[in-house]
Amino acid sequence: MEHEALKRRVSKRIDERSAEMVTLLGELVGERTEIGHEASGQEIMIETFEGMGLEPDVWTPDVDALRKHEAFFETQAYQAVGYDDRPNVVATVDGAGGGRSLALSGHMDVVPANENEWTYPAFEMTQVDDRLYGRGTADMKGGLAAIVHAVDCLQGEAVELAGDLYVQSTLEEEDGGVGGILSVLERGYRPDGAIIAEPWDVPNLGMASAGVRYFELTVPGKSAHVGYGYEGVNALDKAMVIYEALRELDAERKARIDYPPAYRLEPRMRGHETNLNIGTIQAADWPAIIPGEVVMRGRLGWPPGESPEAVVGELRDTIEAVAAADEWLADHPPQLEFFGLRADPHEVDPATDLLQLAKHNAEWVTGREGVFHGGSAGNDTRYYKRYYDIPATSLGPTPNNIHGADEFVTVTSLLETAKSIAATAIDYCGVANGNGRAG
Ligand SMILES: [Zn+2]
Repeated sequence: MEHEALKRRVSKRIDERSAEMVTLLGELVGERTEIGHEASGQEIMIETFEGMGLEPDVWTPDVDALRKHEAFFETQAYQAVGYDDRPNVVATVDGAGGGRSLALSGHMDVVPANENEWTYPAFEMTQVDDRLYGRGTADMKGGLAAIVHAVDCLQGEAVELAGDLYVQSTLEEEDGGVGGILSVLERGYRPDGAIIAEPWDVPNLGMASAGVRYFELTVPGKSAHVGYGYEGVNALDKAMVIYEALRELDAERKARIDYPPAYRLEPRMRGHETNLNIGTIQAADWPAIIPGEVVMRGRLGWPPGESPEAVVGELRDTIEAVAAADEWLADHPPQLEFFGLRADPHEVDPATDLLQLAKHNAEWVTGREGVFHGGSAGNDTRYYKRYYDIPATSLGPTPNNIHGADEFVTVTSLLETAKSIAATAIDYCGVANGNGRAG
């Protein structure tokens, strides 16, 4: 392997100074940076970068400019609190020149926590042997701390890379990433490759993400007192027929669609790569009323392979077929609308140089064999590949209870992440001649 001595030295430093990474993670977990409230965590990142001698670029998303982008949608956090006081932070480590640039990225936002379900405090880190408990330890403040630790140890060993490194702490990934990664890319940070330290279970790596649409279906009827039901048209009866048709569509799609990367790590995922789910049904608001309107809200998700237009078309056709066969609905068609999160699927060819180097190094660090997986949920890497044709992968710690109670990450898997990322940066960006203490 090229650069082997250098990588060993950086790896050794990463292990020896692991306490610094754990301390940083503890500080980050102590800030309640639920989506929309990322600022206090970003302050810590700014201080950390400045402490490393870097000059972080700090800005709030420009929503008017972002609106012009084809991937734009208004995130729920934007609608709730806007983008004021919600900075992205990027620190650039200048390369000596002549090498490829690499972004190392993580998101500061975390999902909320129902603290009643937790054994440990959710917004305070608790260490139990190798385990670090707390909201965001795995998804993904742990990955952020590992990135910082990797860069800090590269600097500490005086490794001068040929290409630039962009070290990024972003907003609202859990909400779709418009004000986060998309804003970073639109700011002008367009590297040759990108690694996002999401908890993808090192040495396994990400190669795909799912398409996602949230939809609202309004089914009309005619309300009436239940005692004079002959005067009404029960919208819930109509909606149930549509619901059954959507269940059949879901079953038919599940049987038809096969995407192996989605179930390489979790065999139970097989047959569930695509999902059409109704999560809420709102009918009348009183037992003695025949519902005059029903509103169903659902989520449609699918792996790479189908265009958004094709998938949405199947949903629309199914609803229209039910309506056409019903006398009332034929004259009072249901209304289908989309809202909130809007993600289009992406896939990166695993043969891409960045992905091969990252896999090689993650296997070298861990001594285990890795696989490329993904495609059952949305994530930020899609912005790189889909809209800027920049190869990107997810490389991060083992996830435990993410989005659930007692989320934790192990120090071991964070150190494996940091070492894999540092080694990949050395290979991908190249090392300036004569630099690094090994010469
Ligand atoms: Zn995440």
